[in-house]
Amino acid sequence: GIAIFPTDGEDGDSLMKNADAAMYHAKAAGRNNFQFFDARMNDAALERLKIEHDLRLALSRDEFCLHYQPITDMVTGRVVSVEALVRWQHPENGLILPGKFIPVAEETGLIQPLGEWVFWAACRQLANLRAQGIFDVAVGINISALQMRNGNLPILAKGALEAFDLEPSGLIFEITESVAMQQPEETVRILDLLHDMGIGLAIDDFGTGYSSLSYLRMFPIDHLKLDRSFVEEIGEDTGGPVICDATIGLAHNLGLHVVAEGVETSVQMDYLRARGCDLVQGYLISRAVPSDEVITFIRQRNP
Ligand code: C2E
Ligand code: CA
Ligand code: CA
Repeated sequence: GIAIFPTDGEDGDSLMKNADAAMYHAKAAGRNNFQFFDARMNDAALERLKIEHDLRLALSRDEFCLHYQPITDMVTGRVVSVEALVRWQHPENGLILPGKFIPVAEETGLIQPLGEWVFWAACRQLANLRAQGIFDVAVGINISALQMRNGNLPILAKGALEAFDLEPSGLIFEITESVAMQQPEETVRILDLLHDMGIGLAIDDFGTGYSSLSYLRMFPIDHLKLDRSFVEEIGEDTGGPVICDATIGLAHNLGLHVVAEGVETSVQMDYLRARGCDLVQGYLISRAVPSDEVITFIRQRNP
């Protein structure tokens, strides 16, 4: 991180502070690089600080809610699961999407209590589905890096499943490819525990990180979620469709189902179906919606 006298600060303290902000950006840009300080970096830091403060309040005030996005079978159109996606009902700013606050929650460790909140709320929704007579739909939950590393995930899951008297196969944990590959041996150990409990497992955002195929083969997973960035390129003359084809082939050879993420057009849908992709999620089917709306959607699709 580089700050230059006198434009970036007229004394040692402010130069150090600004060099630090620049270094922070260098790290966020993937390390192994340098960044010159820019006054806008302080604005970003201030905004982060404000979000962190508001997040702490939000947790104590119970301002979070879950929306659910259906995942359907490519061929039958039936809903097989719904993915729980957290939203923040901010008292002044309205509904905030997770892209705005999950990264801050991860940096500050607040993802731990938030993740637990999400977990219990998602289990309550699963119990709600069962209470409403819907037995063939699972609930997907996004698991953060910190939750994977801290080791209490199996205990948390066991507690919630017992508390709501749920079958473990009603839950699907989504772990991003990059998180899964950070400490792959440790990932194998935790995923084995969860798999033995009967919980479903998916690798999220597949194709965006660096995958070791030998580890991928060792993960006891059920689904690969093909990242939206590749689906987006279907119909274009780029590498995207090739990666879609290759991922579907790879997954099927490993005995896994493929979920295509972010399907927005029928061109994309038809292409993926013709390639044998199993499941689909995206605005073409439905956006993420509140609990009652997703239940109405399920009743239409799974009569
Ligand atoms: P994700 O796990 O990849 O979730 C899918 C995101 O893609 C969701 O955004 C969803 O609304 C969006 N999406 C789905 N279909 C389409 C489509 O057809 N087109 C477009 N353009 N977008 C589509 P959302 O809800 O904003 O969530 C963003 C990310 O935030 C998620 O990405 C996930 O990584 C994270 N996230 C959300 N909820 C949680 C949570 O409870 N815990 C953790 N750790 N992360 C979460
Ligand atoms: Ca996900
Ligand atoms: Ca994803």
